[in-house]
Amino acid sequence: MFCPNCGGELPSDANYCPMCNTVIKPSHSITLGRPGVITAASILSGIMGGCSIIGAIACFLTAGVVRSETPNTPEQLLGMMVTLELMIAIGVVLLIFGVLCLLSCNRLWKCRRSGGILGIALGVLGIVISVPLSIGSAIGIIPSIALIVLILMGWRSLN
Ligand SMILES: [Zn+2]
Repeated sequence: MFCPNCGGELPSDANYCPMCNTVIKPSHSITLGRPGVITAASILSGIMGGCSIIGAIACFLTAGVVRSETPNTPEQLLGMMVTLELMIAIGVVLLIFGVLCLLSCNRLWKCRRSGGILGIALGVLGIVISVPLSIGSAIGIIPSIALIVLILMGWRSLN
């Protein structure tokens, strides 16, 4: 790369010429289109959304099965009610999380910064939700961290 004003040789990432101080437009550094990391983040967000919605449906189905059972003792009735409320609560959280993941997937696909912000927030939320689930917490934590890392890597290309 050479300076258009004085013809001096420039470092490839120069913003101005060190010889004559002419401002160099970073025409070659502007990346057009969606970088691979953002494509990966969008797909990952979509997969997380799909899995969360499937998990929510599973919770609601489990709640339906529990509700259809006939308790024989007051202890069984109490156990059923606790399970029922727990399943519905987890199902609602997973459903909201899943829908927001799909929204983030769509915004990231279009290289929107709002998708990046939402994706990072969901990544943090995914870690927070996964921590209390001792079994399978890695299933939630690993993609959540990966999503945050991918978005941060491609952050500059979001607008
Ligand atoms: Zn120059």
